[in-house]
Amino acid sequence: LKELEKREIAQLTARYDHVKIDEIQSFADMPLSQKTQRGLAECEYFVPTEIQRESVILGLRGFDVLGAAKTGSGKTLAFLLTLDGLGALIITPTRELAVQIYQTLVNVGKFHDFSAGLLIGGKELEFEKDRLDVINIVIGTPGRLLHHMDQNPLFTCVNLQILVLDEADRCLDMGFEREMNAIIENLPPTRQTLLFSATQTKKVKDLGRLSLKDPKYVSVHEHE
Ligand code: ADP
Ligand code: MG
Repeated sequence: LKELEKREIAQLTARYDHVKIDEIQSFADMPLSQKTQRGLAECEYFVPTEIQRESVILGLRGFDVLGAAKTGSGKTLAFLLTLDGLGALIITPTRELAVQIYQTLVNVGKFHDFSAGLLIGGKELEFEKDRLDVINIVIGTPGRLLHHMDQNPLFTCVNLQILVLDEADRCLDMGFEREMNAIIENLPPTRQTLLFSATQTKKVKDLGRLSLKDPKYVSVHEHE
């Protein structure tokens, strides 16, 4: 890591605890890296949505976050901004959602040096395989991810710092139970976990499976 970047990270980290969430009016008020700020501006994202404003700082502070806000409220950026350059595994229930997250990541993250991988069905397996050792953000569907964990020795999650479940209630429901349990077993126990969905997941069973620590609940309700 270059000296300048180290200094920037230290300066940003020092701000995490002091930022007043209520006073955030634009993304520029958030302690995000210059690379992320430039990516946001280039994509013409200026004002955070409520779920973004309420959850990103908590995530940056290192808390596990359970975020709930209706469809279309900007949950994708809510978790992508929390990563701000860190390694992550993002699980989402469908190929279409995985592709959308990947596109947002590539757009907002264009000034970062990370590489992102998309693990969904219907793509050429060998291509994915060769690249997995250099990828630090992986986005995938439960079935495909588990397939890679089983089949591919290069696919280790040791660099995983953050686990994200997008549409968490759907990822954790019965249809993906076997895959999700097996994936979670393969992950390092010390990690941060971010769960986002349209409705708040408070099922003790689910939270137990994910071994969340002191999670922060962020619910954004519609204002009539
Ligand atoms: P959700 O996952 O909550 O259904 P998305 O993350 O898919 O919502 O975002 C819905 C739409 O809102 C997308 O088109 C996205 O580009 C847009 N969007 C997200 N955050 C912002 C923002 N801060 N400012 C403007 N548009 C945004
Ligand atoms: Mg979404």
